[in-house]
Amino acid sequence: MGIAENVKRILSGLPPGVRLLAATKSRTIEEIWEAINAGVDLIGENYVQEAAKKYPHIGRRVEWHFIGHLQRNKVKKAVELFDMIETVDRIEIAREIDKRAKQLGKTTFVLIEINSGREPQKAGVMPKEALKLADEIWSLENVKLMGLMTMGPRVENAEDIRPYFKLTREIFDELRYIYGDENIRYLSMGMTDTWRIAIEEGANIVRIGRGIFGPRP
Ligand SMILES: *Cc1c(COP(=O)(O)O)cnc(C)c1O
Repeated sequence: MGIAENVKRILSGLPPGVRLLAATKSRTIEEIWEAINAGVDLIGENYVQEAAKKYPHIGRRVEWHFIGHLQRNKVKKAVELFDMIETVDRIEIAREIDKRAKQLGKTTFVLIEINSGREPQKAGVMPKEALKLADEIWSLENVKLMGLMTMGPRVENAEDIRPYFKLTREIFDELRYIYGDENIRYLSMGMTDTWRIAIEEGANIVRIGRGIFGPRP
């Protein structure tokens, strides 16, 4: 099936209030435009340099989220390009985002990435450290914490991801209780094979790549 059909099928299956993020790493400008013309209004990129190359061809027609691993020396460019950074997992990066946002006179929206599988070598803050990180981020002036994101471990059967989404949802509910649901709004979970389960567990942003664009080159 083509990109436009995939987008339309996924969009028509989303409950109200759930946003589709098209994960566009390694996809061409033409492929991305086909998705946009079929209804995509939010894209996620994993690499700052790749996003910077694509940006002039797409611009503000869509919202841009950063979903990759952010290095400190890329923060300035990331703050310029992205509306939201979904992968904040340490205070040093949050402080750098704050500093760069201040210089640009803007506020950058962020999500905290949770290492829901507690895998040592993977990105994301450990679940038990999440509230402390949220508290530190909350005190920054030019960064606005808006929720949580998780990848979860690689699983054989999609259903096996559910406990990791549940765990992230529990932390999300704690954050909402502490900071208010008018502030903590986004729970970004679920990819091509797992987005339906993620929605059942409370996700309101699902990040889909292969399900829209086909297998990665
Ligand atoms: C690539 C990517 C996705 C989409 O993955 P698919 O399996 O292609 O749907 C979602 N989230 C992140 C962080 C990604 O890097």
